[in-house]
Amino acid sequence: MSETIFGKIIRGEIPCHKVYEDDQVLAFLDINPLSKGHTLVIPKEPAQTLDALSEESAAALGRVLPRICRAVIAVTGVKEYNVLENNGTGAHQAIAHVHFHIIPKPNRSEGLGIGWPMHALDHQEGAELAARLRTALA
Ligand code: AMP
Repeated sequence: MSETIFGKIIRGEIPCHKVYEDDQVLAFLDINPLSKGHTLVIPKEPAQTLDALSEESAAALGRVLPRICRAVIAVTGVKEYNVLENNGTGAHQAIAHVHFHIIPKPNRSEGLGIGWPMHALDHQEGAELAARLRTALA
């Protein structure tokens, strides 16, 4: 796996504005925030994408994410927010190390803007797809 800037932050080789740390997780402020309080939560395990992350690291992230969200709400006073996790360059992932963004949404112009090109699900297709996914998960 290639080295990333987040690996260097984990090892303390470059600085960050640390928010939280335990044995498996580190959280720090995003250097180019979309809004005040924009925080990144990362596993110390160097997985590039969420599907490559161990269950142990995923559990550790899941355990602390709501707590960090509560801290961001308490400190910013902003109750609405997005949690975003990009996987792959085509999906806007710039740093090849799993990271969850917590992005306060104080108003329409600050925070995350989302394109949502939805279309109605074809139920025949949906039934087949769900069955294939259940098989893949079995
Ligand atoms: P993504 O597009 O999901 O890969 O997001 C990468 C995020 O990392 C961006 O929001 C960057 O602003 C942020 N970022 C890049 N370098 C640093 C750094 N040294 N410290 C904090 N955040 C960073």
